[in-house]
Amino acid sequence: MPDSSALYIHVPYCKRKCNYCDFYSVTELDSKKRYFDALNKEISLYSNKPPFALDTINTIYLGGGTPSLLAPEEALLLLNHLKWNFHITGRVEVSFEANPGTVLQTNLYSFLKAGFNRITIGVQSFHDGELAVLTRIHNGEEAINAVRLARKAGFENIGIDLIFGIPGQTPASWRESLQRAVDLRPHHISMYGLTIEPHTPLGLAIKSRQLSRCDEELERDMYLKGIEVLESAGYEHYEISNLALQGYRSRHNQKYWNGNPYLGLGPAAHSFNGIQRWWNCANVEQYCQYLDEDLLPFEKKEQLSIEQKCQELILLGLRRKEGIDLQQWSQVASGDLLTSAEPVIKELGGLDTRTLPFKNSKHNRLLTVLHKRLCLTRQGLLLYDTVCEKLAQVI
Ligand code: SF4
Repeated sequence: MPDSSALYIHVPYCKRKCNYCDFYSVTELDSKKRYFDALNKEISLYSNKPPFALDTINTIYLGGGTPSLLAPEEALLLLNHLKWNFHITGRVEVSFEANPGTVLQTNLYSFLKAGFNRITIGVQSFHDGELAVLTRIHNGEEAINAVRLARKAGFENIGIDLIFGIPGQTPASWRESLQRAVDLRPHHISMYGLTIEPHTPLGLAIKSRQLSRCDEELERDMYLKGIEVLESAGYEHYEISNLALQGYRSRHNQKYWNGNPYLGLGPAAHSFNGIQRWWNCANVEQYCQYLDEDLLPFEKKEQLSIEQKCQELILLGLRRKEGIDLQQWSQVASGDLLTSAEPVIKELGGLDTRTLPFKNSKHNRLLTVLHKRLCLTRQGLLLYDTVCEKLAQVI
């Protein structure tokens, strides 16, 4: 039996588009019924296609978009349809993303009753001013309420997302957001540096100097402060942007990082079966049209070459505290990474095998090796892109 797979469902609807967002979502909800019919058809079409028809599935993730815009009965029907069509067994993690600006209207208890057992709340910041810069539909008070409501509804696995590097954000306001997060004690905290895509309204506002980009050094300090505050509050830093209380790592996301197969359903969703990856068209109407004709709605499919597989091992491995599995590397690349990358590692300052992964290297080194795995030190985390780029030269 292959390792269990993951299911991702893309819910492409938002109340309003945030100015920095590069995910595929639309704000007209009229197509929701048509989208659901198409999604159910896509589920049925995959239910008899290997490997997903044969694999066991034990993580399901509703992302978006704004899954908390779904009516509880829609969410229940969707989960039931998935259960009828796939081998969903064992202790299943069923997550959904919630926007604090919509959870007040959403009956969280009904989601829990429907079978969702993990909620990820897109808090981003607890500061009204910063949320306004990001054109989020919620304010700080609503973010706090969303976490409290989730707990009150009975969720025992609550995650929140935070963003640093927001134009105008200060070290003090970031520390306040971190402290608020710690006080609310969610089980999982993701913290992302704000990515500014040039074609988004935020990117354009920065280009036209209406807003200023956060200073790089300040952003780096905020990242380090985030790790420091959350680690001292008992969170384990297990992935470059993710921290969790013990036993609450995201099982679903770990499957991506571990290279397990995953099936993505819905417009713009990505899939990987261990050999090929493909992605669906990023257009609700086109997606529905494909499925009207009983066709799978993917836009592109590609077979991973050995070089691409090695690249994935580097990119995904170094994101995790567990690092790159050197034995797995040998199987894929038919060679020893530490030997072939020796000159590159030297160029990067060498290894510090006395430092644990993600911890501070007294010798200011970027890489360490633990249990036959090549991992980043804390200094390495700050130079993740550079280290990946250099290591990729040996492929
Ligand atoms: S709520 Fe999320 S998905 Fe929707 S526009 Fe904002 S950032 Fe994008």
